[in-house]
Amino acid sequence: MGTGADDTAAQRLRLLQQEFVQPVRTGPGDGRSSRPTHAPAPINISVVDRIRAAVYEVEHHTRTIAPDAGHFTDEESRVYDWARQHTDHLATEQQNALEALIYRQDLEHAIVAGDTTVVRRHPCPQCGCWGLYWRAEARRAVCVNHYCTDDDGISNAWELKRLAQEHVTQKSAVARRAT
Ligand SMILES: [Zn+2]
Repeated sequence: MGTGADDTAAQRLRLLQQEFVQPVRTGPGDGRSSRPTHAPAPINISVVDRIRAAVYEVEHHTRTIAPDAGHFTDEESRVYDWARQHTDHLATEQQNALEALIYRQDLEHAIVAGDTTVVRRHPCPQCGCWGLYWRAEARRAVCVNHYCTDDDGISNAWELKRLAQEHVTQKSAVARRAT
């Protein structure tokens, strides 16, 4: 089985659904008439698309490495459990690649929901300092260390994919040492 401690991707996906996607039911007998002051929020199409794309990516990745997995037909936030169940017999590298994908989506879901502070929980892959911040237009986490730059003197910036890979590699090494 996968790593329980990081299993927030499913929770975050559910949160996105609740916050941005859940169609507001109206009419009698919906049980929500006691909260009339809230105007119904419009369904956020871009978040719907985003969730759909995320689920498809996990499903596609899973079927690529575990062709017997078949099609994923369950509720969207269960796709991570589904993927882990169908890949838990595979080699560690393949499981880690899946975990990195899931963890990257976890970060993405958080950022879509407005929490960009998740990148601060990661050390800079280059200099190891704790001071990454999210630059939305570049879609990258930028290092605050003034000496941590590329050849052109531009601050090093990391895709979420890279942070996720580092995170999973680190965790995997810790787990190996513990056994
Ligand atoms: Zn750095």
